[in-house]
Amino acid sequence: MTSIKKTDTELMDKVVRLARNRGFVFPGSEIYGGLQNSWDYGPIGVELKRNIKELWWKMFVLERPDMVGIDANIIMNTRVWEASGHLDSFNDTLIECKKCHTRFRDDDLFVYMLSEKGKPRSTNTEELLKELVSFPCPECNNVGEFTKPKFFHTMFRTNLGSIETPENTVYLRPETAQAMFVDFAEIVRVSRKRLPFGIAQIGKAFRNEITTGNFIFRLREFEQMEIEYFIEPPKTKKDWEKHFDHWLKEIKKWLDVIGVDKNRVKEVEIPKKERAHYSERTVDIEFQYPFGQKELYGLAYRTDYDISAHQKHSGESLKYRDPKTGKEFVPHVIEPSLGVERTILAVLLSAYTEEEVVSAKGEKETRIVLKLPSIIAPYKVAILPLSDKAELTKMAESIRKELIGDFSVDYDTTQSIGKRYRRQDEIGTPYCVTVDFDSLDDKKVTIRDRDTMKQDRVEIKKIREYLNKKLI
Ligand code: ATP
Repeated sequence: MTSIKKTDTELMDKVVRLARNRGFVFPGSEIYGGLQNSWDYGPIGVELKRNIKELWWKMFVLERPDMVGIDANIIMNTRVWEASGHLDSFNDTLIECKKCHTRFRDDDLFVYMLSEKGKPRSTNTEELLKELVSFPCPECNNVGEFTKPKFFHTMFRTNLGSIETPENTVYLRPETAQAMFVDFAEIVRVSRKRLPFGIAQIGKAFRNEITTGNFIFRLREFEQMEIEYFIEPPKTKKDWEKHFDHWLKEIKKWLDVIGVDKNRVKEVEIPKKERAHYSERTVDIEFQYPFGQKELYGLAYRTDYDISAHQKHSGESLKYRDPKTGKEFVPHVIEPSLGVERTILAVLLSAYTEEEVVSAKGEKETRIVLKLPSIIAPYKVAILPLSDKAELTKMAESIRKELIGDFSVDYDTTQSIGKRYRRQDEIGTPYCVTVDFDSLDDKKVTIRDRDTMKQDRVEIKKIREYLNKKLI
């Protein structure tokens, strides 16, 4: 079999189609016309998402002695957002084309300007805005039709309780990070962890983005997997850099384990003027998506900004007391911040493969395979009785029951075996176990490998052992 090369636009269309057809992700509220780029996870997508989150938790919380987890409230006291600076500065800048009414974020327009042939003379924001008048709209090509930039606050606002008063105004969190700072002292007390150590959280975050799109890349409701790693106040640059480098390596290891294509990943050092107000250093881990190279994850050295700000605003001490020296100080923080949806998109784009194969009838056909690492595959194994005759389904069902304690198992009796193999290839199931009429006599099944399509005849009592060896 040979791999078929695709252009990036084709790849994006194909991945979106596969995701919808096979039940990974589909538009939310679709029977009412959808809701501006909201997406629901279907039966296959929810398994992939759970596997990714569970693996992250296992690698970064359960397997490390220097990490603990929390699961905090989405709605927090509004003073949290005053202290963190979000109430004042969590804005997006919108520029609209007056002719076609397409709305753009200013930074997207700047990237477009800088990639155009008649490149602007400057990379400074003020200068870029001045030069925008001579650039055509990327959508309708009309020149000089952009509106003045407008600022929009990107936190979702709601009320606590039934009465709408300014005192009742609350916000949906735009990042999971703040709870890890606000709860820091309590977590030190109950976990008895000593510096350096980290707090991790996986959860929903909400941003009222002015433009959404590119499938699940930019959403208003999404999930984050974040770590706040607390260290002693550094005496030298090296003291925090060693932790920063460690987390950069950990992110790369993670990308490797989940099968993200290395050739599409770039580390980008973010210059001071583009960094968030709290960050002393930021490295964006960018991915070459079919619609351009954009942020996948962020890694930031947040200094002692957050804990100090919460101490100041709350009047409570969040200082750490060194048990050996008795000294008290505000710890500094390294933050690896990973988006779940962008992870899923990068994983799907990396795993999607088309191969030319010869069918049982000797005809050439295209096989779509999602070459997911088995550790995150929605199902590890599919049990496929050749027909739905009772004697076969009974045997298949008892194999399913045998395996479900150890593996996530799909069970499918519909359609021809060829079509069922194709479906399992497309949802990335590493192994298919076929129960046929010979199985009734020889007590063996056929196990087919997703990637090589090689088939082994295996004794039923040895299936678990076989899969355990293969799925390491
Ligand atoms: P961008 O520049 O793309 O808006 P950001 O720098 O604002 O991203 P962060 O605040 O660093 O993003 O958030 C951490 C991570 O959360 C990002 O690296 C990304 O994986 C994810 N993320 C942020 N915003 C969104 C969104 N609107 N939709 C989906 N994931 C997001």
